[in-house]
Formats: sequence, structure tokens, C-alpha cells
Amino acid sequence: MTDRPTDTSVVIIGAGQAGLSVAYYLRKLGLDPGNDFVLLDRGPGAGGAWQFRWEALRLGYAHRVNDLPGMDELGLSFDTADRTAPARDVVADYYAQYERHFDLKVVRPADVTRVRATLDGFEVTFDDAYGDQTFSTQVVVNATGTWGAPFIPWYPGRDDFRGRQLNTTEYRDAEEFRDQDVVVVGGGTSAIGFLLELENVARSITWVTRRPIEFLEEQELNIEGGTRAVTLQDAAAREGRALPSIVSTTGVPRTRRIQAAIDRGLLSERPMFTRIEPDGVVFADGSAQHADAIIWATGFRPELRHLASLKLREQAGGVTVAGGAAYRNAGVFFAGYGPTASTIGANRAGRTIARQVVSYLSTLGY
Ligand code: FAD
Repeated sequence: MTDRPTDTSVVIIGAGQAGLSVAYYLRKLGLDPGNDFVLLDRGPGAGGAWQFRWEALRLGYAHRVNDLPGMDELGLSFDTADRTAPARDVVADYYAQYERHFDLKVVRPADVTRVRATLDGFEVTFDDAYGDQTFSTQVVVNATGTWGAPFIPWYPGRDDFRGRQLNTTEYRDAEEFRDQDVVVVGGGTSAIGFLLELENVARSITWVTRRPIEFLEEQELNIEGGTRAVTLQDAAAREGRALPSIVSTTGVPRTRRIQAAIDRGLLSERPMFTRIEPDGVVFADGSAQHADAIIWATGFRPELRHLASLKLREQAGGVTVAGGAAYRNAGVFFAGYGPTASTIGANRAGRTIARQVVSYLSTLGY
């Protein structure tokens, strides 16, 4: 066992951009890291989900990555960060410096397996190097992102495919597909990133999407700038519906890299296939494409399994969240969920949630 206290006022689950931002603002509002609030993260190191992203991904390949609040105090900015180094290394390094500078005391690897409501708050159970542990707390801030819950749509024949099927989180490197026939599914920037990497490595690449792709005129998409996407996410969260896909409402920015790929004919998508056969896919017009591998870059869902016993999920398929606060339990907050699932949104969530947490604690006499 550790000598860590087992009681705290706030447990933040997840130390990605959203969790760190909440922690920064809580500290700014006078809460003491490690005592008044605790950050638990399942990952082995700093970086949130970024630490797990594939090697070839660079900062600024599609979307803007916003700085964490207060990051300028450290003389750091993603705008001037190394764009030749893997994004996963740069982000992990900056987050690690940030955690140290603000002394945020992240407990990791600590995998939260269950959050249970008690008479006076919550019991948060997690696995760490010392085995099963529990924190008692008044407030839970869930900032677990989506990386742990990749979504793969079902198509007939999927289980009979003899080749390799993988999702975005399992993609490592284009070399694994050298001289193979590869089908890439999905209309987002991950799918496009894979196509760019597989060019001249795979024997053939077939790109399929459920909707025609809308390439924007902008070179860089600030997800927050896609106001329509944020509004739709917010409406779904407020109504407790399952969250809509972000990319279907933002479109894909025409970075120079993407424009050049459009010009040379790489980015030309086919409508979705209708079924999968043991050695490939078949389209609505009856044509078939041989495939050694199918890469599903088909998005993510919020990772919420550990909250199941709180019964927050609505029949409409989502959790009702307004301004970061869960409708069904006054002590539960969601950062990086729905309208705040981007780096800039995560920053905003940190600010608004920290204020609400402090005011909620004061109603409890803290
Ligand atoms: P995460 O970074 O996913 O952090 C969540 C943390 O919670 C992780 O460290 C995870 O290990 C931990 N966790 C999860 N479950 C548990 C548990 N049960 N117990 C303990 N810990 C847990 N946004 C942008 O603004 N710009 C971009 O360029 C951009 N690129 C992206 C590229 C890809 C491929 C993807 C998938 C997303 C991208 N996004 C981008 C969106 C991105 O998700 C957000 O920007 C932001 O990084 C998410 O921060 P977060 O803190 O909400 O989640």
C-alpha cells in the first residue's frame, strides 16, 4: 500500500488536455494538488491519448493543437513546437513539463475501473502498481477522452475476413502493409493520414467513406472554428443523445499536404462497400476489391464504462451534460466530452468546470 491519502474532494479521471486543464484551474482557484484533488491516469506516461498515436503523425497535420492554459509560463507553445518530430513525443514532453511546473501530481498508471455513488459522494476504484485502490471523494470529473473506445461499424461478413482488420488505435506504421492490398475506411483526418502514408508502400489502396468528403478551403481546421460541429455536439449532449461524428460536420481542411494528394489523385473515395468476403470487399454495383487488410478509421465513442454504476446513460444513447455538468448527478462533471472534445474545447471545459466544482464544494461546506 502507499501512504497516499484515500480521501480527497475531487478526483479527475484522465490526465489528457481536458484533465490537466481542469487541474490547472482548480489549483488556480486555491485547491491543493495531491490533497484537495487527485488526477488518475491509466497511461504509463504524460501525454493523454497523444502518447499512443502513431509514429508518423506530426503536429499540425490537420487540426490546430491549442496550448494548455498557463503553458506560456513555461515558455512553451505548440505553435512553435518541432513539427518534424512525432506529435506523440512533443505532446508527451510538453505535458510532462507542464505537470511538473504546476506540480499536478498525476497518479499513473492508475486505471479507474469503477465509480460508485455513496451516501456522501463517490468511491473511485482503480488499479495501480499496488493493486486495487479506492479514493473517497465529493466530486468526480471525468476526462477520459475517446481513444479507449474506438468505434467499428458492423458490415456483413466482417467476422469471415481472412486478412487483418485493425482500428486507428492499432495502426503503427505503413511498413506493416508493404505490397498489400489495403482498404481504408473512414472520412476523417486519421483515414487521410493513413492513405498518405500507405502511398507507394501498399500495392493498392482503396478508400471508402460513408459520405462524400467535403474538403474545406481552410488550410488548418480549428475544431472550435467549426462552430456548427460544436453546436451539434452541444445539442446532443444537452439532450442526452449519442454524440454525432465530428468530421461529418466540420469537413476536412485542405492543408498543403492534403491539397497535393488531391491533385495527384490519391484522395478519391468510393462509397462504402456493402459486404465483406474472406478475401476482400464487395460494392453495391457488384464489383469486388481484393484486400489483405482493412483499416477502420471510423471514429471513437466517449470512454465511460467505469461510470456504468452511476446510471448516467439515457435511453437516447448518451449522457445529459450541460456546460460540463452531468444532469443526473450534481457531483459529476465531464471535461473533453461532446462540444469540448478538442484541445481548445478541453481548455474551456477546464475553466468552466473548475468554477462549478468549487461552487459545488462550497454548498457542501468545503
Ligand atoms: P485524452 O487525450 O484521450 O486523455 C484522456 C486520458 O484519460 C488518457 O490519458 C487516458 O489514458 C485516460 N483514461 C481513459 N480512461 C481511463 C480510466 N478508466 N482510468 C484512468 N485513466 C483513463 N484535437 C485537436 O484539437 N487538434 C488535433 O490535431 C487533434 N488531433 C487528433 C488526432 C486523432 C487521431 C484523434 C483521435 C483526436 C484528435 N484530436 C485533436 C481530438 C483530441 O481527442 C483532443 O484534442 C484532446 O487531445 C483530447 O483530450 P482529452 O483530455 O479529452 O482526452
